[in-house]
Amino acid sequence: MSVINRRAMLAGTAAVYAASVLTPFAEKSPAGAAVPMAGKQVPGWYRYKVGEIEVTVVTDGARTFPLTDSYVTNVKKEDVSAMLAANFLDPANITNCYSPIVVNTGSKLVLIDTGNGPGARAQPNSHYGQLPTNLAAAGIDPGAIDTGVISHFHYDHVNGLLTEDNKLAFPNAEVMVPSVEWKFWTDDGEMSRAPAGRMADLFKNNRRVFDALNRKVTQYDWNKEVAPGITAVATQGHTPGHTSFVVSSGSGKVYVQSDVTHHTALFAGHPGWHVFLDQDPDMAEATRRKVYDMIVAEKLMVQAFHAPFPGIGHLEMTGDGYRFVPATWNPSI
Ligand SMILES: [Zn+2]
Repeated sequence: MSVINRRAMLAGTAAVYAASVLTPFAEKSPAGAAVPMAGKQVPGWYRYKVGEIEVTVVTDGARTFPLTDSYVTNVKKEDVSAMLAANFLDPANITNCYSPIVVNTGSKLVLIDTGNGPGARAQPNSHYGQLPTNLAAAGIDPGAIDTGVISHFHYDHVNGLLTEDNKLAFPNAEVMVPSVEWKFWTDDGEMSRAPAGRMADLFKNNRRVFDALNRKVTQYDWNKEVAPGITAVATQGHTPGHTSFVVSSGSGKVYVQSDVTHHTALFAGHPGWHVFLDQDPDMAEATRRKVYDMIVAEKLMVQAFHAPFPGIGHLEMTGDGYRFVPATWNPSI
């Protein structure tokens, strides 16, 4: 190739490049036409290590509902709205996130809490009850779950135990429940004394779920391991047998708080605020303060079921309470 031809060719290449940069993408060719919008969210799962243990947070989705006067029982709705706005959230609505976790201990695959289940999934425009689809996206076979551990008996934690046809959603799993929680919700006397409405409905729902499983569960006690490296700890108040978990391996440790706080921005920020879901609000508040003081003092990582996905982070003290500080997304584990 002669020098002149070479120059001409390079100049030509530059001209083509310049044209491609300057021409809007869509005008280049019919193949460059606008791509349709995806119109839906990507699957949600996030993975991290605790020592040798691997944790996968798998979202069950989220649900948004109007803020009512009774959502926080001991504070005016205007104050709750103001706190939502201060956190750059919709002041008129509550968005509740749900984050079950799958813990691979090396010898056992353990699911902690199961999300809202098929009834929630079937509701019109539902964005919750999504644990099965997100487990599939994460490459986790429900049949590979060895143990399903339940923290407490509220809809968003137990309903995902069942499939649409009322079978165990994790066919090979041993279902483990807190013994105190089991005793309370299966007690006929407690059920007969439950006020009509929410409490009576919870009793009925728990019997529906566990009767479908022929009440085949293993009860566990606090301060004992439910699986290697996962210790159950008492955090009563939200429910009588409400349980949290300490996942530890080597120098790694994460406090899996379950519902010690519900909506994190509201109830970590104001630990004295009582969500209507706390069965014994004073005990729940005392638990919240005690557990959070310990987490702050020990600089523990906390995995929070109702924090924004994936719900892993730290806590720091603020004026009157605490602030949940999300962990930075980590591309490696
Ligand atoms: Zn919950």
